[in-house]
Amino acid sequence: MDKQYNFKENEEKLYKEWAKKDVWKPKGEGKPFVMVIPPPNVTGSLHMGHALNTTCQDILARYYRQKGRPVKWVVGTDHAGIATQTKVEKALLKKGIKKNEISKEEFLKHIWLWKEEYGNQIIHQLQRLGASCDWSKIYFTMDNDYQEAVKTAFKHFYDQGLIYQADRVVNWCTRCQTSLSDLEVEYRKENTKLYYFKYDKDFPIVIATTRPETKLGDSAVAVNPKDKRYKKYIGQTISADFVGQKLNLKIIADPMVDMKFGTGALGVTPAHSLADAELAEKYSLKSIQVIDRFGKIVSNFSEGLKVRKFKGLRAIEAREKIIEELEKKGLIEKIEDIKHNISICYRCEREIEPMTSKQWFVSMKPETRNPKSETISKSKIQNKSLRELGMEAVKSGKVQFVPKKWEKVYLNWMENVKDWCISRQLVWGHRMPVFIKKQATNLKFKIKNLKLNDKDIYVGDNPPEGFEQVDDVLDTWFSSALWSFATLGYPKKLDKKYYPTTVLSTARDIIHLWVSRMIFSSLDLTGEIPFEKVYIHPTIYNQEGKRMSKSLGTGLDPIELIDKYGADAVRFGLTLLNTGVQDIKFSEVHILAGRKFANKLWNIARFIEMNEMNRKFLISNFQFSLNFQNPIYNLYFNKVDKLETETERDLEQFRFGQALERIYHFIWHDFADKMIEETKQDESDEKMVFLQTVFSRLLNLVEPFMPFVASKLKSETRIPKF
Ligand SMILES: [Zn+2]
Repeated sequence: MDKQYNFKENEEKLYKEWAKKDVWKPKGEGKPFVMVIPPPNVTGSLHMGHALNTTCQDILARYYRQKGRPVKWVVGTDHAGIATQTKVEKALLKKGIKKNEISKEEFLKHIWLWKEEYGNQIIHQLQRLGASCDWSKIYFTMDNDYQEAVKTAFKHFYDQGLIYQADRVVNWCTRCQTSLSDLEVEYRKENTKLYYFKYDKDFPIVIATTRPETKLGDSAVAVNPKDKRYKKYIGQTISADFVGQKLNLKIIADPMVDMKFGTGALGVTPAHSLADAELAEKYSLKSIQVIDRFGKIVSNFSEGLKVRKFKGLRAIEAREKIIEELEKKGLIEKIEDIKHNISICYRCEREIEPMTSKQWFVSMKPETRNPKSETISKSKIQNKSLRELGMEAVKSGKVQFVPKKWEKVYLNWMENVKDWCISRQLVWGHRMPVFIKKQATNLKFKIKNLKLNDKDIYVGDNPPEGFEQVDDVLDTWFSSALWSFATLGYPKKLDKKYYPTTVLSTARDIIHLWVSRMIFSSLDLTGEIPFEKVYIHPTIYNQEGKRMSKSLGTGLDPIELIDKYGADAVRFGLTLLNTGVQDIKFSEVHILAGRKFANKLWNIARFIEMNEMNRKFLISNFQFSLNFQNPIYNLYFNKVDKLETETERDLEQFRFGQALERIYHFIWHDFADKMIEETKQDESDEKMVFLQTVFSRLLNLVEPFMPFVASKLKSETRIPKF
């Protein structure tokens, strides 16, 4: 053995061996232990959260493999619609290629090329960390088989009457040109102005708004029913000439209105505010589109916006003009500086423009399951809504969250879940398998709120003549929701040997986006729960308690840490910090401790080896029995037994940090400091067998946590394998 443990050389050699196709295919008998890795974005690179989550999963995989269970750990990547598209768009721009100057097909070609070239970076990074996934197949959410799964699932939901198209105010990014789910919207505090003004000189109520330009589309003024100031106007419709646009404003009373904000009177803009759209539905208000999908004042006047002088202006330019005009007319009462939470796109950080558009939805409501034909059975799912299915799975204990507190978070979310907007106006993604009759498509542009007839829609693979496919692609989470079973044979033949899976280990911020949708999709499409346990790992913060993020400059690159300290050390450090009790404040000290521990293990092995060589001891010559003459040795095995039992119990309960800490202390402070020291004088053969046997068992305990050094010591020293 070398004097020093060379982690670089050892890890380099081993991870290449472990990355081979068939190394981690499930073997053995008994109840399989199955996990699907949360598929990282194909364009992504490893961050600390991945490193922690992958370590947790690998500890379980290696531990249960050691116990003899067939372990299947499914791996692959997600096509990550908007994230990938934005990344490739930026890369192309650097080469001087603009997305809107090339065809859709060309752009798609660029994305696939990009994926081939850079897409597997994260897979290599997972391998460097030592992840023992089943590499014989690396899934991708845009593979042909996966596309089949997506189409089948879509058709199933459609046939169940759960998919519908509707006009909705959605979060719209005028740069990415797509709708975003509420969960894809982020917030930023900004200084802005709150304008107090009247629509015209005769209008009796002063309203307050941060966005005067949208007031061109107002159809009501909302006040609180308790507000005495406005009581006499409630129920009236008052006309106003707002900078040239004629408005008919209904005065409505709704408890939702905050009496203390502004003047307590709100201009209601159904086309450009989610909250106002809800009011519009409640009080049957007209919706007038003011801003188009590029963030400019609309040029198409058929929708109700008659004033022409602002057409084509960017919203902010129109705002300035309107304020100027209101000031001239003396209609402005005051302008206040306020700090305001604005919503921004999570990809490009541009301000969100709430906008009405036609989108497709999956219904979560109980009354909506309504099969399209009588041959479609409802029996398997007993006519339950997706929401009910999702809630029951957890309430009944069939799916359990660890730590348990996340069940409440999950159930609260499901309790109030809204219909799921599944259409995105992107190029990269699963194109919706929806075909619409051509005449109907044309009509759609002429008549607003036109409800498409079932006969005008075809869902599936072989549309009849005269139908054309819609351009929208599906929300990335629609395909991710199928991950646990689309990777295990669905829709052809679900592999019941491995399904339902055993454990899903993931981050808390995707409980809503992903975990919930995987649960109800699996139940509805396969009749099975997707996994028995959901382990929600802690979040890693830096020393100041800030989120680790590369873009904020508060992140650390796990690969750099692996280069510096070794993968074992990184795994050790992250695991030791993961006690499951609270979130992790990351410190490099723990990783350094991991490197020291790897060296310690090496030194113990060397000590044993040297002892052996000095005495020309050959283990094969020794009559092996675990009955030692020296009672101290016999007693010591009880301690090791206990350590093994405690480790098993800890890992069953996902107490990774506690398990590792106990093993670490035992090896360092009990085995090395006491046992080896105290028996230095004993030169018997049985001591050699004793030390080697104990060390071998201890290495088995270390292996799931620090597989590189443990494997090396197990394979290359003469420690017997029992
Ligand atoms: Zn954007």
